[in-house]
Amino acid sequence: MDKVFVTRSSMPSFEEYCEAIKPLWNTHFLTNMGTYHRQLEGELAEFLDAPMVSLTVNGHMALELAIQSFDFPEGAEVITTPFTFISTTHAIVRNRLQPVFCDVKESDGTIDETKIEELITPKTVAIMPVHVYGHLCNVDAIQRIADKYGLKVIYDAAHAFGVTTAEESVACMGDASVFSFHATKVFHTIEGGAVTSKDERLYEKLYNLKNFGIRGEELVVSVGANAKMNEFAAIMGLCNLKHLPAALADRKRVCDSYLMKLRDVPDIRGFSSFSEGSNYAYFPILVADRFRMTRDELYTCLLQEGIHARKYFYPITADQACFKNRYRKADLSVARDLSSRVLVLPLYEGLEEENIRMICNFIQKKDESGGQ
Ligand SMILES: *Cc1c(COP(=O)(O)O)cnc(C)c1O
Repeated sequence: MDKVFVTRSSMPSFEEYCEAIKPLWNTHFLTNMGTYHRQLEGELAEFLDAPMVSLTVNGHMALELAIQSFDFPEGAEVITTPFTFISTTHAIVRNRLQPVFCDVKESDGTIDETKIEELITPKTVAIMPVHVYGHLCNVDAIQRIADKYGLKVIYDAAHAFGVTTAEESVACMGDASVFSFHATKVFHTIEGGAVTSKDERLYEKLYNLKNFGIRGEELVVSVGANAKMNEFAAIMGLCNLKHLPAALADRKRVCDSYLMKLRDVPDIRGFSSFSEGSNYAYFPILVADRFRMTRDELYTCLLQEGIHARKYFYPITADQACFKNRYRKADLSVARDLSSRVLVLPLYEGLEEENIRMICNFIQKKDESGGQ
């Protein structure tokens, strides 16, 4: 059997992409906020229902620049979650700020809003939660805390592209939200990302930060980095955005199929509930203690069958070699527990029914027989 990877990039047809990039051979205009960069910012503003969309070279730089745009004093504290991709914590530390880790909720893995207030000190300037697996944080409660203490809220929304709610757009929550358009994400531009906000004034600031602060041939107004999205990436985004509804529908098919088939495996729990408005970005499962093998053993057994699941996220970022014991201690027992039990199963547009069945049968067999 062919190997099954945890994810596979959605792509437009070769012909469609080639046709779309053809004009670049006339203009020779390949980057620096070109036609397609502007067009994609416009289409995303509409799709996300957000007044401010600033595209970047990747999601990580979007995180770094979003934080930097608030000019926090060096050494200030940012309350965040350790149950995330390492990029979230890196972005805080690379801005010379201190991450203060807050535990997460067992129910959905997002930051436990009831534990935020006790972590606030006079040095706290911001809260940086993550809509992990596309599970939205308790945005209202977080905003109330932020308002009470005068803190900024910056969401790592890298997993939440395409999530819709009846109320506010995911792109307008808090003071800024950050998306990743990496090739492995639900919507991608090969590499890319965006900062979004309901505050249009952020646009100019981010423009300077992503383009060296250059505002004229002889004028540099601030110390910016280079984090622009190029035209080839923007065009990939424009193509993929057209196909997004079909991609989401197919991801829903895969998730529904997993849920059906895993219903009969009592010691495996689907961690996402996939209500209306989900983006079907990931299919995380939690391996119960009663399961006949550990999460790590299951991971290895699947790998031996050519099925690449992912321990996403293990270890929690606070326990990584570069951060361990460096920052304020907090009780992170829920995050550590989830991290020791979670396994993300393959999920992508076009994943065959046959493969889903095989993966689920395999897991079920392991639960019945253990290592045998
Ligand atoms: C993917 C991801 C990022 C980083 O985005 P890149 O585009 O890969 O730089 C940040 N945070 C989370 C939660 C992510 O999943």
